[in-house]
Amino acid sequence: MDYLPVFLQLRSARTVIVGGGRIAARKADLLLRAGASVTVVAPRLHEDLRNRAAAGQLTYLAESFVPAHLDGAVIAIAATGLKDVNAAVSDAARERNVPVNVVDDAALSTFIFPAIIDRSPIVVAVGSGGQAPVLARWVRERIEAILPAGLGALARFMGERRGRIQRLLGPAARRGFWERIVRGKAGARVLTGDAAGAERAFDAELLISHLTSSAVTGGNALGEVYLIGAGPGDPDLLTLRALQLLQQADVVLYDRLVPAGVLERARREARRIFVGKNHGDGAGHTPQEDIHELMIRFAREGLKVARLKGGDPFVFGRGGEEVEELVRHGIPYLVVPGITAALGAAAAAGIPLTQRELSQSVTFVTGHNAAEGDSLDWHTLAKAQQTVVFYMGVGRLEPIVARLRAAGAADTLPAALIERATLPGQRILRGTLATIADLGNRAGISPPALLIVGEVVAASLAGEPAALPGAAAETAADLIQPI
Ligand code: SAH
Repeated sequence: MDYLPVFLQLRSARTVIVGGGRIAARKADLLLRAGASVTVVAPRLHEDLRNRAAAGQLTYLAESFVPAHLDGAVIAIAATGLKDVNAAVSDAARERNVPVNVVDDAALSTFIFPAIIDRSPIVVAVGSGGQAPVLARWVRERIEAILPAGLGALARFMGERRGRIQRLLGPAARRGFWERIVRGKAGARVLTGDAAGAERAFDAELLISHLTSSAVTGGNALGEVYLIGAGPGDPDLLTLRALQLLQQADVVLYDRLVPAGVLERARREARRIFVGKNHGDGAGHTPQEDIHELMIRFAREGLKVARLKGGDPFVFGRGGEEVEELVRHGIPYLVVPGITAALGAAAAAGIPLTQRELSQSVTFVTGHNAAEGDSLDWHTLAKAQQTVVFYMGVGRLEPIVARLRAAGAADTLPAALIERATLPGQRILRGTLATIADLGNRAGISPPALLIVGEVVAASLAGEPAALPGAAAETAADLIQPI
């Protein structure tokens, strides 16, 4: 970071602008908006500045610049367009330890102006360290587009009530309360300009906050648990809601399949706790009871707990058990769906999971128990006109293939293995039932990976999508074996 962003309180402070042109006029506007006392030093004045001077809004000195003009200034701006005058202003300011901005000259400046979004009291400043002002303005426009026009009104509404809430609610309850104001009815009413409705919604929210403070939680409002699907791996495949809730969570309990890129999206101060299994395959014993205990304990402390799971929480994720436990203990919860691995892998490999004429249904099945005498209905899975996606099947490729073939699936039925779908190092292998297990073993495919079986796998050979950002491009060697 080459510059420290700060917000300066300039009310009534002496600020000096050297230069009287259009750009100087713009800077004067900005300083006046911040309540500064502005002195303009210039032999001649732009019309805007003349009007402001005539209206008594600023002090005009019709003089050539001398260093003494900066005596007592808290900031100085040089906007003369004349290199030597600008340099003189810069020198004089530095001598007096007055922060100085020379328009369009970062080398002569000790501070620079950011691009600004002003929804006072909410102000967003975007800087590029003087390197790419156009890019900074572009970023500003993008942010501006997503900020509601009534943001300032909402900030004032909250500011006016801050002291009262400080007195009425404990620290843990306060944050949740304000978040509900921002995201809930009260905030929505303020943004639409409905002052009376906003006041009513605010009072209702305050009442609820009092009611939910209970003895169980030691006077804090009860926390809550968000069961969040983190998607197949690429952080860009998180849902907007997953992101929003991750930003609110105090604690994040995450599985092995959740990559660092997703965890980074959580609030910086949030506590991150790994609660994964030792088998990347999702098989093996999970201390599920420990996870339940953690979720409940944190929620009872009044905290917001994000329970982050790979893919979707309700697809081979034991989300159902966790919800049961939360309900049993009366903990409020939310489930946020995620893109399950099958969907991520299919998209990454360009395999349509259903396709007219080829496949009219798709089945997600766990392969981790595939063996002689298991409880899967292999005759149904081996039927034509469908797609079957095996999760957790990497260690059981031979039995899966053997059982499908024994149940009548053709040796020539196309099959693909997708390892680390949407993640860096993603690999895609294609073959048939006769070849896929061998291909997978030879390539050393390891979890997390999916096996997709069905005619649609061949349909995708017409062309593959470009690799997702983050996922490594496939090499020719990965595109094994025509079918
Ligand atoms: N709830 C998860 C599934 C958890 S079970 C979901 O909805 O996706 C774990 C299995 O998911 C892994 O063994 C693997 O088969 C599959 N899987 C998860 N992420 C994957 C990825 N990025 N690429 C391929 N398979 C993945």
